[in-house]
Amino acid sequence: MTATSGKLVKGATGDWEVVIGLEVHAQVTSNAKLFSGASTEFGGEPNSHVSLVDAAMPGMLPVINAQCVKQAVRTGLGLNAQINLRSVFDRKNYFYADSPQGYQISQYKSPIVGEGEVTVELEGGKSATIGIERLHLEQDAGKLLHDQSPTMSFVDLNRSGVALMEIVSKPDIRDAEQAKAYVTKVRSILRYLGTCDGDMEKGNLRADVNVSVRKPGGPLGTRCEIKNMNSITFIGQAIEYEARRQIEIIEDGGAIDQETRLFDPNKGETRSMRSKEEAHDYRYFPDPDLLPLEFTDAYVAEIKASLPELPDQKNAR
Ligand code: ADP
Ligand code: MG
Repeated sequence: MTATSGKLVKGATGDWEVVIGLEVHAQVTSNAKLFSGASTEFGGEPNSHVSLVDAAMPGMLPVINAQCVKQAVRTGLGLNAQINLRSVFDRKNYFYADSPQGYQISQYKSPIVGEGEVTVELEGGKSATIGIERLHLEQDAGKLLHDQSPTMSFVDLNRSGVALMEIVSKPDIRDAEQAKAYVTKVRSILRYLGTCDGDMEKGNLRADVNVSVRKPGGPLGTRCEIKNMNSITFIGQAIEYEARRQIEIIEDGGAIDQETRLFDPNKGETRSMRSKEEAHDYRYFPDPDLLPLEFTDAYVAEIKASLPELPDQKNAR
């Protein structure tokens, strides 16, 4: 697949091309969590939707929610992607106070959905095709509340264990307009499918935005990842700022450090959160409490036959 060229950025030494890849985290629409029967309802009293599994009590075992699996398959088909008939859940190990298991159940080497593509509409009647690398299922974490007491932080596990789909794009996006059009289109597909409500204000859809710059057609540059963006407008602003920042560093003779950054909407700037050198070794391994997911062709075909009309089909009609 060849990416559609985007708006180049003028630097002191000539034109620069921006390269962008997005990781979209979409909360799966389902009544119950990914591995427990607890409710996914938003806005309940803290810790009112928490089963013993979600609280990671010793000896509790996860049980896969068939509805969440079906939603991921439906989403994969809606993204014109390969459905993998066998996929595996892995433990991604790290400590965080809102994650009582001490690991997140995710998918690493064998995700439920493989490569696909999404066509996005651009200004002037143009379009671009963006490749999808993969889609995998994973658990969401709980939430820390730091503003309720001057001396203590609290943990709300209502969101702990809710199913997320992580949709990873290829680095096929070439400017802020394409990135905004891509998130808009993916959100629209998810909404047509009813697999995620796409509510970015509630955090039900959020994106990590990977940005690098290069001389047009040159080798890929080092990327920075801007975490947890929950507004399409801000995604555009963050890309514009980040591309400029990287170009200035390189043109001044510097090099880009691969790092994780945060966007400050008040200042319109990104700032460093942590460098990749500090990145965790997650020690992924297959979760021994869960069997691999295995589907028949008939299961996938049946889901495919029952999909609603999607945005592209509606447009064509
Ligand atoms: P990680 O877990 O390290 O973030 P992932 O494979 O989950 O890695 O995601 C990488 C994301 O970064 C993908 O969306 C990919 O398209 C994008 N990406 C990879 N290389 C580059 C690059 N040089 N410039 C911009 N984006 C990139
Ligand atoms: Mg990432």
